[in-house]
This record gives sequence, C-alpha cells and structure tokens, in this order.
Amino acid sequence: MTQTGTGQAPKEASSSVVAQHAATLKTLPFADVRDFDDATRGFLGTLENARITSAQGRVVWSLEPYGFLSDAEAPPTVDPSLWRQSRLNMNHGLFEVVPGVYQVRGLDIANMTLIEGDSGVIVVDTLTSIEGARAAMELYFRHRGLRPVAAVIFTHTHTDHWGGARGVLEEDMPASGRVPIIAPNFFMEHAVSENIIAGPAMLRRAQYQFGPFLAKGPRGQVDCGLGKSMAAGSVALLRPTDLIIATGDKRSIDGVEFEFQMAPNSEAPAEMHFFIPRYQLLNLAENCTHNFHNLLPFRGADVRDALAWSKYLGEALQMWGGKAKAMCGQHHWPVWGFERIDTMIRQQRDLYKFAHDQTIRLMNHGLTATEIAETIRLPASLDGAWHARGYYGHIRHNVKAIYQKYLGWYDANPVNLDPLPPEAAGRKYVEYMGGAAALLERAMKDFAKGEFRFVAQAVGHLVFAEPDNRAARALLADTFEQLGYAAESATWRNAYLFGAQELRQGMPKAPARPAMPRETLAALRTEQLWDVLGVRLNGPKAEGKHIVLNWSFTDTGENFVLTLENCALTYIAGEQATTADASFALARGVLDEVIAKLTSFPEAVASGKIKVSGNPMRLGELMALMDEFPRMFEIVEPKRTVVS
Ligand SMILES: [Zn+2]
Repeated sequence: MTQTGTGQAPKEASSSVVAQHAATLKTLPFADVRDFDDATRGFLGTLENARITSAQGRVVWSLEPYGFLSDAEAPPTVDPSLWRQSRLNMNHGLFEVVPGVYQVRGLDIANMTLIEGDSGVIVVDTLTSIEGARAAMELYFRHRGLRPVAAVIFTHTHTDHWGGARGVLEEDMPASGRVPIIAPNFFMEHAVSENIIAGPAMLRRAQYQFGPFLAKGPRGQVDCGLGKSMAAGSVALLRPTDLIIATGDKRSIDGVEFEFQMAPNSEAPAEMHFFIPRYQLLNLAENCTHNFHNLLPFRGADVRDALAWSKYLGEALQMWGGKAKAMCGQHHWPVWGFERIDTMIRQQRDLYKFAHDQTIRLMNHGLTATEIAETIRLPASLDGAWHARGYYGHIRHNVKAIYQKYLGWYDANPVNLDPLPPEAAGRKYVEYMGGAAALLERAMKDFAKGEFRFVAQAVGHLVFAEPDNRAARALLADTFEQLGYAAESATWRNAYLFGAQELRQGMPKAPARPAMPRETLAALRTEQLWDVLGVRLNGPKAEGKHIVLNWSFTDTGENFVLTLENCALTYIAGEQATTADASFALARGVLDEVIAKLTSFPEAVASGKIKVSGNPMRLGELMALMDEFPRMFEIVEPKRTVVS
C-alpha cells in the first residue's frame, strides 16, 4: 500500500449488480451450447495447464491461475455472459478443424493455424512469443508427426500474429529464403508503426485494457474477451518474402491452392483473408471472431473503419459463401457447416454495418457520442447472437469510435470547447457541491441505490481535487469495482477493476521498459526514427535553439538534413546542408545499435563506425533536449509530477 492507497481488499457484488446478472441469465440464450461443442471439437491433446516457460524458467503463458473458471455457474462478481466467454476461452491445445487443418488454441491470446501440404506444413500466424510458437509447433509435431515448415503466413500486422515467427523458423531459414513468409501488402510499413509514435502512452493504457496487474479470480481479471490475456516472452519481427497485393490473388503453397482477399484498414491496417478449395476452409483472420471486436481499443489506436470492415465480410460471403465447410479465425474457435458459416458472417457483416450506419444516422440528427451510446440498441437478431456480444469491443464504446472517425473529439457544444482540466474543475465542483463531506454523503446514498455511473463522475471530481482524501478514494474504488462486476465487456471490467486497484494500492511497480529490439528497429524506415525523435523533443527546453545536422547512411544511400528551429525537429530527405553544424556518416544498422543501447554514440565514433565532421557536440546538445517517457503515469488521480 502506498501513502495514498486505502489498502482495501476487493468486495462483494452489490444487490443491484446481482439483480442485473439474474436478468441477464433470463435474457440471453444460455441454453444454446453449440459454442462449447465447437470450442472442444477435434481436440487432439495439449500441454498441462497450457503452461509455457522460457529457457530461464520464466512462465510466459499459463492457464493454471484461471482454474476458478471450472465452475459452470458465474459468481455474483462476474457478468454471466462474460463468465461464459471466459470459460470458452479456457479450451487449449491442438484441435483438428478438418482433416489436414489444425489449430493450436489457448496457448496465447491468438491462434496458430496449421495447414498440411504435399510434403510439409503451412503455418498461419506464429503467436506472440518465440517460446509460445515453439511450444505450439512441438505440440503439433507430437500429434501429427515431424514435417518441414513449407511456408509461414501472417494474416495481419498485430504482434500476437507474428511475434513468435522465430520459434517456427530455424535461425538460418528466413535469410536463406527457402521458406516463404507470406503477408498482406504494406505489412512491414504497419507491423511496428501502429504502436511506435504513441507507444509509451499505449503501453500504460493497455494495462487498463488487459489487466495484467490484476489478480486473476472472480473479483479480478477473468479474460479479455478475445482470449485470456497478453502473452509474455520474446518477440522478433521477420520480414515477409512474398506480399499478397490484390483480392483474387492466388498462391500454390506446397501443392495447396490459396485464394486471398485483402482487408486493409479493418481490424488492422494491413490484413487479409483466404480460402483453401482443397480443404473447403475459410479463414477470416481477425475480422469475424466470437465477439464484437474493437473499433478503438482502450490502449488507443487509429480509429478502425467499421464500414470497410463490414464490406470485406460481405465480399467474403460473395466470394466463398456456400463453399466453405469450416471457417476459422485467428482467435476463438471455428464454425462448421455451410448454413452456420453463412449466418455468422452475415451477422458479423451487419453488426459492423448497423453500428456504423445507426451511429451516423443519430449523429446527423444531432446526437453527440455520449447520447448515441445511451440511445443505440442492437437489433434482437444480433443482440441474441453470442458472437456479436461486446466482450472485447462493445457497442457503447464502438459508437464513440465511429463518431470520432467522422467528427472528432468535439461535440460542437462550446461548453466542451475549453473546459477546465480535471484538477481545477474538480476543486470548483467540490466547492459548488458544498465541500467534500457533503459530496461524499450524497454519493454514498446514490451508491446504495446502485447509481454507480454518476457516483464515479462526482467522486472522480473529489479525487482530482483532493487525491489524498482516503474516504473519496475508497468510495471511488468501490464504485469502479461495482461497475467492473456489472460489465459484460472484459475490457470494461479490466479498466474498472484496475482503476479500483490503483486507488486502493497505488500504481504497481512495473519494470523499466526494455530498449527496442534491433530487429524491430531495423523494420522502421529512417524517417520513422526521426519522427520518434521529434516527439521526444522537449519544446520549452528547445526555446531559441537552432541546430542543423547532416546524416549520410553509407549502406542505404540515404541522406537527411535534420533541423531544430522554432522548437520543432524536422528533416529533409535526399539532401545535405552546406551550413550544417556537423555531419555524420554511418551505416543505418549502427544507428539502430545506438538506439537499442547495444553501443553508445561516442563508442561508435571512437571505433570508427561513425565518421564525424564539424562540431559533434551539437548532437549532444540536441539529445540533451530529449525527454525520457515514464513507464507509469497517473490515470485515475492527478499527476504527481509536473509535466510541461
Ligand atoms: Zn490478434
């Protein structure tokens, strides 16, 4: 417990939450258990508790802490629909989808799909970590016999689909080009860049989305909707050797024909689907999963295009409807049979279309994002489909993402144009409400009535006005906790429960962020490195500075002029300035080594890896203006350090 924490332990569910869960049990079709049959169908074997450890013995994945999910009945502290999904996501091991196609599920948040060719196996997505991918391959070989990897396919750019590639391919294979790595067009451009500029903020926010610091249990983390949680372990990015460019493109891989469909700017900026006639198998990557996916995850991201997403699913239906005996994705479990596949794709197509169109309709009637979230209801046909439930995304935050995509943050009411920030506003709200004691008294009455949403708003003001007010922190924590217990969405639950935990215990001590691995850095264009440097520049410190540096990369042939003026760092590509303060000539890999902290700039100069002319001290001067970002920062309370 920190100075400011209240030290309380998790509590019981309140009577209003219990009543809500009882109603859910009556409303949703719990008697439909086909998902449980599908999630276990074709089971061939697994690892005990899905436990995977690194060479150093560190656990990178294990479902053992989730043993409490063996109870069929949801406890009062978990929404019964979320409990159901959490239990479905407990299935782990190797499964046959159809003879010749297998999936490793539950050994990571994502799936690995294995497709047998004439002489080897084609591996679709390689899980998050090298350790996980290795364990998955061993499990597959144990049950299907050892056979060479004929190709690797990355369906899209998120790390849980490519991070473990090294665990599938031996060290020397990718470089030799013997094993093709197939990916959607613009894969490398997006694989790393989506998280690079805003990485530090996203990593901290992701803790609220996935709940890695929450205890696992009925009063803690139970799932993240899409799977159990983020995996740990080592990650390496391998460059694709073959890009799929257009819908309708085909490849014959190890004798197996693949037909591809491009789905850019859907769940990921670069993503693709495929159909395999030999196996009558359809794979819709991460665009047709057993939940309403996120149009804007809580960690933060570019808003996703719900309209495009829906159109890709419609197009997939047009291309392959009635042809696929089995449909699988790279999360969750497959679906079998022409009719059920057709129904699921149709419903998922319409889920994204409905959310999109109805948001825009209400928006054009003048409703704001908050009002749309409060108004919109899924039609009964979608609301009662288990795979359309908002375990990961949710209709109530996805509509806000759609609003943001078209209209941005501002609701056009000038009240919200330039509001006071939370601390200043909090102090005034508390004053207007008659002081902390009066506010708390009213809030406790509303808490007892189950009015948790407003209690959180009101007490939130008090915590920002008086962060050391223990009664305020305790009540806000209790309120977040009930909101978490009430949530069907796993990401909502994680966000609320982690907020409660931070109010009670303070922020967890997270280990320092490791330097970016060289392979990841090598995947970035030099322009992206300058952009990352630009956002680290402390503007106020740079007041009045003017620095011009020439950069010449001897291996790539790139030239840049990097200029600091007006407290902004810019670059011009393809040029060298005659008036530069200093010039540097080096291989691009050397710059990566410096950033990855494998060497330092002065060391690289001393060893001759960097040639310098002019005054190199000016680079030191520039680097002294760069901020280091903290791993942790306050979210549910005011910042304890002043940032300017
Ligand atoms: Zn994924």
